[in-house]
Amino acid sequence: MQRIHWVSGILTFSVGTSCARAEKNTHRMELVKDGKPRCTLVLPETETPASRLACLELQYHVEAMTGARLPVKRSGEPVQGARILLGDSQATRALGLSVVDLGPQEYLIAFREDAIVLLGKDWQRTGQTLKDEGYSTGGHTLSGARHVIDYWKTVGLEDRPEELIELPGLFDEQGTCYATYDFLERFCHVRWYGPQPVNVILPSRSDLLVEGKDISRSPALKHRDACFGGGWPFMRSQWNQASSQQAQLYWRRLRLGGIRWAGNHTFHRATVKNTFNNPVYQAKGPGQGSQLCYTHPVLVQETVQLARDFFDRKGGLPEGQRAMGDYFTLVPDDNANWCLCERCQSLLAKGKGRKTGFFSSGEVSDYWFRFVNEVAREIKKSHPDKYIATLAYWCYAFPPTGFEVEDNVSVAPCLHTCYYASHPEMTRNDREFYEAWVETSRAPLFAWVYYHHPMEAALIQGWKCFPNFMVHESAQAMKTFIKDGIQGIFMCGEPDQLEYYVLMKLWDDPTLDVDSLMDEFFSSYFQEAALPMASFYRSIEKIASDPSRYPESYMGPKEQIAWEYLGTNKVLKDLEKLIHKAEAKASTDTVRERVRQWRGILDWMIEGRKQYLNGLDTDPDRKS
Ligand SMILES: [Zn+2]
Repeated sequence: MQRIHWVSGILTFSVGTSCARAEKNTHRMELVKDGKPRCTLVLPETETPASRLACLELQYHVEAMTGARLPVKRSGEPVQGARILLGDSQATRALGLSVVDLGPQEYLIAFREDAIVLLGKDWQRTGQTLKDEGYSTGGHTLSGARHVIDYWKTVGLEDRPEELIELPGLFDEQGTCYATYDFLERFCHVRWYGPQPVNVILPSRSDLLVEGKDISRSPALKHRDACFGGGWPFMRSQWNQASSQQAQLYWRRLRLGGIRWAGNHTFHRATVKNTFNNPVYQAKGPGQGSQLCYTHPVLVQETVQLARDFFDRKGGLPEGQRAMGDYFTLVPDDNANWCLCERCQSLLAKGKGRKTGFFSSGEVSDYWFRFVNEVAREIKKSHPDKYIATLAYWCYAFPPTGFEVEDNVSVAPCLHTCYYASHPEMTRNDREFYEAWVETSRAPLFAWVYYHHPMEAALIQGWKCFPNFMVHESAQAMKTFIKDGIQGIFMCGEPDQLEYYVLMKLWDDPTLDVDSLMDEFFSSYFQEAALPMASFYRSIEKIASDPSRYPESYMGPKEQIAWEYLGTNKVLKDLEKLIHKAEAKASTDTVRERVRQWRGILDWMIEGRKQYLNGLDTDPDRKS
């Protein structure tokens, strides 16, 4: 366990509207005094996965900071002295506080005489709740997203006996955890900058006195899916090869999940083979086997039936389908082998003039959204409060022309946010169709945001890219999405440790200031090495986010752009000096270890440039 001293200032949080029950007065309560526990954690009569995790997390973090292990009791058992009540119980109701009045994902941190209440709606395992099924954007089932971890091992206490717990499902209510994590950040100044113990800020102290007013709020963005395992090179190094259980716990600490929604391809080889296999509506031509005849009335009927069965909880949602909560998803396969029948071709012909010169266009929008509308109109008759979800992607990114999309069609524009800092034309094209959806859509909007460029291409093609750090630009995009009423985001691709953390904080509260979050990170994480490490990061961001540094033909060979336009010899030498400076300043094992993890980014760049230059020497084709 790494402990460090709290060195930097306290982050100011914006506080949501306090509910009518909330007391306005400031209260103080001692949790620990001289390294000894001064209060008891109280679980509800009936534990939920969220209240159990909240209790373990609170107990662990307080012990890690102070050495004091808070005792745990159950509501109804006699307790001496101060209490922290976790989750809805008779004890909270005796104080007039219950989850009944809380909205979805809303949570409460309340201070009372000798008591703190951490409360939110929690999912409970019952015969009824287990009937819900779904597949998330990333393919998690609801039950598969209730990960089981060995808690003590996951937090780095290997010598404790095995403690297997089921984490609250990513897409299950877990308001008591939200309250507890907010409490640990806001009042105890804990920070989770990554999933490994070395990534966590735990201010060491022998007294823990908390002071504050009641808070009741919920995360700003309602669906938050950026469940990265740390598998891409930068986070793998910065997270020090965190285990999957550590990543799963980290997703809860960052409050990922939220309301149930899913968006991804639903008609593809597996579903065409196993579900949509009626010969009458198979696509004519080379699309056969992956695409369908989207103008065929029988396909509409069968799709409607599948959606109705899902909403009616009849069970048997086919694997490969995407649907969660109030949303049943329809997205065609990821190829342009559209059906060659006359009906399909005549609709497709309408989009011929809608090319944009960019990946996202409206060439197939009339064709695709006509099918989505037909299904949606039928669903509206039987399930007026449910939605057909789809993506606004690729050649069906723009809204259709000549007809409106139904008011129960929930669209998720797919946006190239990872180009926004460097590619003004692509940004303009994205903005055009995004704003058209914001303006015309009558159902909740979601977004799929890319963070894959240029790393994904580099990984696939076996070269190394210049780091695409662009936290300010990404932050601005996220703030805009939330302000525009986007209900949820799926993030595709992995940023680095810091950008990931900052964006997740903004998903929860978009009023936070990016530079304050970054300053706090560098001063608390790198301490005496904060200045050179901040310069290292900000220098890379400045280069990657400067459109004038890129050649005119931006879509050209990306490896060349990386090492001739961005990561030049001089740039790398300067970055290396900053890392050396940080290494010289680091005076504790913890800071030395964190600088070492970040050195992985520099090593990647040095190796990438070397590899590129070697390629030029040996492969004459690569010079062109
Ligand atoms: Zn057809």
